[in-house]
Amino acid sequence: MTSLIGLKKEIVEAGRRVHARGYVAANDGNISARVGPDRILITPTGVSKGFMTPEQIVLCDMTGKSLTPGLKTSSEVRMHLKVYQHRPDVMGIVHAHPPYATSFGIAGIALSQAILPEVIITLGAVPIIEYGTPGTEELAEPLVPHLSQYDAFILQNHGALALGTTLNDALFRMETVEHFAQIAFISSMLGRIQTLPETDVRKLLDQRQRYGFKSEFEPLVCLENEVNSLPDCAFVGTNQTVLRPRTPEHALTEPPRAPVPSPGSDSMQHLVARIVAQVLDAMTGSTH
Ligand SMILES: [Zn+2]
Repeated sequence: MTSLIGLKKEIVEAGRRVHARGYVAANDGNISARVGPDRILITPTGVSKGFMTPEQIVLCDMTGKSLTPGLKTSSEVRMHLKVYQHRPDVMGIVHAHPPYATSFGIAGIALSQAILPEVIITLGAVPIIEYGTPGTEELAEPLVPHLSQYDAFILQNHGALALGTTLNDALFRMETVEHFAQIAFISSMLGRIQTLPETDVRKLLDQRQRYGFKSEFEPLVCLENEVNSLPDCAFVGTNQTVLRPRTPEHALTEPPRAPVPSPGSDSMQHLVARIVAQVLDAMTGSTH
């Protein structure tokens, strides 16, 4: 078992990595690890995650009370505690604001497309959790109904959250979420996303079971005309395979559906054409 000081060092190293990868700015983000049935270690408030020392990591109880004299816990400690309370298997949590994943949360597009085999096996899908004011109970509560089904989340207009059976596991999931979001974004800019067909997705989901990932997903094939009736469909073109929880009671709560044009759709093309025209106008000095 890792010692307390060993876990503090792991948190410091995780902070250094999320900062180095540009997943946090200034004092953003928070990282924690479970140290026993009623204790966690968590990053302190108001400190850059890139430059922490083990002495700054705070031990607290399950009410969020700091047990480290002179140090205050992260303002998001309640969100971490809520996860530990509902997921006994979770030993580490990373919260950050990685730019691509956060942008998907601003656009209201869940990362549920079946496009990358590794992501299907390791994460399944990444839902968007409805907005709650950071630092309050509002941020943690909407997470609860989804905690049994997912290991990573996009927090609407805020950032991302990744859980793991070790802290390193949580960190890897955060990296996978951001990598997934980056690739999904670039693919959408290319104008076409080819999702994996349902038969291949089923094979990957079988592997997921074999590797012992506990939550279950099923592939759902969305057609173009289903965009409004199937909120789980994120990138909708023709025959897009997306993943959704197998059990209906764990279905996503109504996701934030801002009227965002689907990449590649007519409305997106019109929007891009209008922006390009405005930029060209500005460059050539013409006025309208
Ligand atoms: Zn945050």
